[in-house]
Amino acid sequence: MDLNTIEKIQKVIWDSDNVVMVSGSEVFREGGLNGLRAEHIVYDIEQKYGFSGEEIVTSQIYSRQVAMFFEYYKDIILNKEKPDNTTVYDVVAKLEKEGKITNIVTKMVYDFYEDAGCEHIVKLYGSVEENRCPACGKIYNSKYIKQAKGTPKCSECGVILRPGFSLFGEQIDNKRLTHAVDAIEGADVLLVAGISLNSFGWQNMLRYYDKDKLVLINTEEKIGDERANYCLYGSISDIFAKLAKEAEKNKKEESAKKAKKSDSKKSK
Ligand SMILES: [Zn+2]
Repeated sequence: MDLNTIEKIQKVIWDSDNVVMVSGSEVFREGGLNGLRAEHIVYDIEQKYGFSGEEIVTSQIYSRQVAMFFEYYKDIILNKEKPDNTTVYDVVAKLEKEGKITNIVTKMVYDFYEDAGCEHIVKLYGSVEENRCPACGKIYNSKYIKQAKGTPKCSECGVILRPGFSLFGEQIDNKRLTHAVDAIEGADVLLVAGISLNSFGWQNMLRYYDKDKLVLINTEEKIGDERANYCLYGSISDIFAKLAKEAEKNKKEESAKKAKKSDSKKSK
């Protein structure tokens, strides 16, 4: 990893007070989770279910083969109760608290940013923690889904629950979409992590950013990444940890400088 680039990127991010983070699928995959599509294990999924993840998370399967839908939900989407440690969520939460990151835009359906203490999250697809009874509106979390015997139903009315995320082929909630586009368009720095800039379903949205501080952090280089002004490849978690460390170092140096200055003033 090029350390000079880490330093440069650290400076770009920490010098801004309007960084918008776009968080892609490689971020939660580093924690061992599959996500909705699970396209990285598409072959295994087709073997097991006879469909791809993209075909299963649809209203057709939900309405016609609801047992299979929930089997996929429990075993593939909720494949891990506790993800492996990743520093990304904590570093992002810290950056938000320090007033650097203003919005986090993601299609991730897990609540890791919320759990880390982030507040301004635009979840385009919704959340596995907000499954709803279509009859009474009661909300059920992912644990309830995972632990349900067979198809999860409302404990009050016995009606089959609706997942807390949008199904493929359904419209993404318009309010969330507008919020995401406005944030990306208005960003000073756009920090994209865990997706390539050409990735399907993101490339149109990322085009709303037209300034020259596009930072890309991903596991590997992909075609189309040339558009980024700064790139870092490797473990996303490691890169975020290094960015945070670099920032701490700079902070200490700065406060040491300030202390020195005020000392020399006093001695005059
Ligand atoms: Zn109910």
